Amino acid sequence: MPIYEYTAADSTQSCAHCATRFEIFARISDPELSACPECGAPIKRLISVASVIAGQAHLQKEAHFSKRGFTQYKKAGGGVYEKTAGDGPQFISGEE
Ligand SMILES: [Zn+2]
Repeated sequence: MPIYEYTAADSTQSCAHCATRFEIFARISDPELSACPECGAPIKRLISVASVIAGQAHLQKEAHFSKRGFTQYKKAGGGVYEKTAGDGPQFISGEE
């Protein structure tokens, strides 16, 4: 379950809970909160640091494969592989 960080959108309308950053556990499908659960003041969601780092690591890994001259495929199901990095056809079939 991802953690979302929120903080008061307006520091003049905030309680001790939302004056500084606070974290909310939420499902991806849950709507974004717009009010503090304690005082109802407007709040804004901050970008999760953890997810930003994970996203960049993913990109670096794929760039690394391409730079070394490798072509990387991931299994797309049904005996078909989809290219994620490097040169070559976008899709290949693992079946003869
Ligand atoms: Zn509050």
